[in-house]
Amino acid sequence: MQRSASVEINLDALTHNLSVVREHAGDANIMAVIKANAYGHGMLKVALYLEDKVDALAVACAEEAIVLREAGIKTRIVVLQGFHHADQLRQCDLFRLEPVCHQYWQIDLLLQTTLNQPLKIWLKADTGMHRLGMSVEEIKQAFQKLNNSRQIEKIHLMSHFANADEPENALNQEQLKRFDDLQSSLSTEASLANSAAIMSMPAAIKDWVRPGVMLYGASPLANKSAPELGLKPVMSLASQVIAITDVKAGEAVGYGSSWVSETDSKMAVVAIGYGDGYPRHATSGTPVNINGRLCPLVGRVSMDMICVDISEMDDTVNIGDSAILWAQKPAVDEVAHSAGTIGYELLCHVGKDQ
Ligand SMILES: *Cc1c(COP(=O)(O)O)cnc(C)c1O
Repeated sequence: MQRSASVEINLDALTHNLSVVREHAGDANIMAVIKANAYGHGMLKVALYLEDKVDALAVACAEEAIVLREAGIKTRIVVLQGFHHADQLRQCDLFRLEPVCHQYWQIDLLLQTTLNQPLKIWLKADTGMHRLGMSVEEIKQAFQKLNNSRQIEKIHLMSHFANADEPENALNQEQLKRFDDLQSSLSTEASLANSAAIMSMPAAIKDWVRPGVMLYGASPLANKSAPELGLKPVMSLASQVIAITDVKAGEAVGYGSSWVSETDSKMAVVAIGYGDGYPRHATSGTPVNINGRLCPLVGRVSMDMICVDISEMDDTVNIGDSAILWAQKPAVDEVAHSAGTIGYELLCHVGKDQ
């Protein structure tokens, strides 16, 4: 069966969003984050497109990086989760990957493991997120221990914000201050800003920036939309109208009969559902673009269908017309908001098989 649902990737939009990164980041080096299959956009495709346009790529784990190397990608690759056993460290060596070291025991493992060539590494400080990262003291010790080691070609410093999507959150300034203090005591290239910080905290730009979601054209900030930030969506998710039906006032639509029509209305059934990555928790009212107009989703999302109220469309909708679930209008962030999640999750999820 040919599926009606389809994902399209607009690489020109990616170029545009990269130029927005440059506008904010000035001369900083750019590490494009392409973990989680490039947020659902296809890791290899995105890597091949970006490799000559950025200074490094970042993935979560060595396995992802090896796929890139085996496909011929020569750009620097940072492995954000680093290594958690010696085999992965040897892979970093073999494939010239740059692991993030976030726990002190990794420093000892680094010094004990025989490597073919000196490694570039990234020391990750915990400045307040309390996920990955060493304490400021451990970072200083690690730095001293590794600085003169022949195992190491270059050490970079990095940290990550917990609340950069809310620029007013007080923890941002605290994290920035801790990072600045640490950086000034060590002379090394440093990286702090993800997309949200790139767009809202100029003081966090440093030597390297690490944009992820903004490259794909979704908003990194809780209270600003992608168009307000000048970002263009790279992914569009589309499908088709496969049925049109009349619903009388008082009749319910879909599983659980959770939505009841107040008036006589017309419904389009669109071939997309949670099996295709459309969020099951999208509520009635979530906008769906049919023939250029935003119409409300009604009733529950099924596995491969949704119902959309097209009563306002004056009989202009036909079977086979296209329905856009997200792209420019609606933006993925709007759909995410209606479904109680964030754009990141929807993009990653729909593009798992890209
Ligand atoms: C995922 C990730 C990023 C990118 O974050 P965005 O919010 O998508 O810009 C940057 N740095 C680290 C360490 C990450 O894990």
